[in-house]
Amino acid sequence: MTCPTCGGPTPWSGNPHRPFCSLTCRLIDLGGWLDERYRIASPRPEDDDPNVP
Ligand SMILES: [Zn+2]
Repeated sequence: MTCPTCGGPTPWSGNPHRPFCSLTCRLIDLGGWLDERYRIASPRPEDDDPNVP
């Protein structure tokens, strides 16, 4: 089993963070997901200017 975040070996049995190798990689993956979701849900106002022809 490899960690989806860092690609390193992941201990499976007794690992509370699986499929991640550690809490750090788990939080990195979660943070990236939340950041992407936030960007999708919050378009920049300057990209939606009605005064631009
Ligand atoms: Zn990892």
